[in-house]
Amino acid sequence: MTVDIAGTTRLAAVIGHPVGHSLSPAIHNAAFRARGLDWVYLAFDVAAGSVAPAFAGVRALGVAGLSVTMPHKQAAAEHADELTDDARRLGAVNCVVNRNGSLVGHNTDGAGFLAALDAEIGFSARGARCVVLGGGGAARAVVLALTRAGAAQIVVVNRTPARARSAAALGGDIALVAAPEEAESMVSGADRVVNATRVGMGEPSTTDLPVVLDWLHPGQVVADLVYQPLRTPLVLGARQRGITAVNGLAMLVHQAALSFELWTGIDAPLDVMTEVVSARFASQ
Ligand code: NAP
Repeated sequence: MTVDIAGTTRLAAVIGHPVGHSLSPAIHNAAFRARGLDWVYLAFDVAAGSVAPAFAGVRALGVAGLSVTMPHKQAAAEHADELTDDARRLGAVNCVVNRNGSLVGHNTDGAGFLAALDAEIGFSARGARCVVLGGGGAARAVVLALTRAGAAQIVVVNRTPARARSAAALGGDIALVAAPEEAESMVSGADRVVNATRVGMGEPSTTDLPVVLDWLHPGQVVADLVYQPLRTPLVLGARQRGITAVNGLAMLVHQAALSFELWTGIDAPLDVMTEVVSARFASQ
């Protein structure tokens, strides 16, 4: 890869810890090249607790945009100068835009989730009964997104009840919590089932499932946020039962595309970004 770096080159970056595994530099540098932009994207390993000095550096150096990954998403929400409504409600930031020295914190996970499913399968949540498995950052973003998209009901099922309650609170009146022991009836009766737990992530040989496959039936849509391996046990099992099921790859690309557009004001080259990610996971 040849990048012509000049005095005019703008910088975007990801901060995280660890960050060496991040796909973001490959995705965004390919996107900048595809659009002929004089931008470059780097990864910075920032220790936990060091978001404030990192942000001071971003302001002082005029870094144009940041992606924020674990463990800094909550701290980034605390140290941003402004927050969008989604970032404020989620208490988490995954994208920062440097607006003349003022750092604006965004959260593109929920919008990326909806945009990805719409692009992949024409997904609509309007009027749907949804089950969200999980209570972490991804589940919270999905609950808020499904609520905004007009879901009729959202049931949050999570191992740790307090996190389930906190995620469900983002859905207001239409969201409720169910214990894992109640998951069978909730999942069987749902139109949309979203896995926002870590279950199924890891080596391609993993067989862990977040739900019993017999609880699922054709007519439902299953969205697994996991994308490593690409053929997740849940997606494979659901498809074998004739159920429409998608993994988290498109969401990964779409939330990155939204960040790209926030920084540059230019439409993201989704095809190029998808190609980069797909090539990385092609062997799985
Ligand atoms: P997180 O905040 O750490 O939350 C992890 C969630 O998984 C929690 O609900 C946790 O339950 C649950 N969990 C973990 N191990 C479990 C197990 N053995 N059995 C049952 N539940 C288990 O992580 P996150 O950021 O929300 O991410 C969750 C998943 O979504 C990850 O696989 C991540 O890669 C994926 N994700 C994908 C995208 C995308 O763009 N495709 C974006 C964000 C996240 P407890 O609360 O009980 O611990």
